[in-house]
Amino acid sequence: MAEKASVREVGLRDGLQLAKDFLDTQIKLEWARAEAAAGVREIEVTSFVPPHVIAQFSDAGTVASTALTIPGLLASALIPNLRGAQTGFDLGVAKLNFVCSASEAHNQANVRRSTDESLADFDRIMDERKARGLDGKTAIAGGIATSFGCTIQGAVPEERVLAIASAYAEAGADEIMVADTVGYANPNQVRRILAAVVREVAPLPVAAHFHDTRGLGLANVVAALDAGVRLFDSSLAGLGGCPFAPGASGNINTEDCVYLLESMGFDTGVDLDALLRLRERLPQWLPQEKLTGAIERAGLPKTFVCAHAA
Ligand code: ZN
Repeated sequence: MAEKASVREVGLRDGLQLAKDFLDTQIKLEWARAEAAAGVREIEVTSFVPPHVIAQFSDAGTVASTALTIPGLLASALIPNLRGAQTGFDLGVAKLNFVCSASEAHNQANVRRSTDESLADFDRIMDERKARGLDGKTAIAGGIATSFGCTIQGAVPEERVLAIASAYAEAGADEIMVADTVGYANPNQVRRILAAVVREVAPLPVAAHFHDTRGLGLANVVAALDAGVRLFDSSLAGLGGCPFAPGASGNINTEDCVYLLESMGFDTGVDLDALLRLRERLPQWLPQEKLTGAIERAGLPKTFVCAHAA
């Protein structure tokens, strides 16, 4: 049997964060339904940030609570702080993805506090989960943004990434996510840092989040596979940008990532044809956004065999 590896769709969150137009709530849900039906198990459907910060997520409550009813889908939401977590707990969201930057400067710019303050907030989130009797019911992931470098601060110490990962694990996180938020990572760095994080937090699952800003996104996926990572954030049609790098491309592309994993013999559980049919609808839904995709452009090779069908 083929070894499993998964993609987590983040197009509805990371991909839409900087989109020019508000994507209609019903279309967001249609997207989530179609992608879940294609076999994508987890979709980060929204972000619990105040509506005045990102208008795109002013429908977060409706999107999250409706997505919870989609069969077979683990609908998760990004949370920047305790307030976001409380919204998620109130709505009964099954998984909340907290994020803190490894770069002090980036964390200050993003959530206006030090990384230590963010980690203290994470502890409060875990306490509140316990107090509400949600341990074992609501999963909480600890994400580490700018783990491979930062557009504001420059280099980010690897020890800081490891220290944050270990703080999350100690606090009781269910998963650790390591992110190259600004597209600085190279495969050697990815192999080294992710192997160290995997060792540090074992047996917790470690996910990787790459942007394809400089064309190294999928190379970094291969390096992360070498390090033992089996869960990858990606965005359909490579949707998204980076607020700190104008004109930069977005997350790694979901359909290309599924193609990569399946062609390397990993079972993603995803029906690539169904995924490509959904992808075809994106240009109508988001006419102003720059979409990418090698498989969309070139099609699948005749020699391609889906690992989960093999
Ligand atoms: Zn991102």
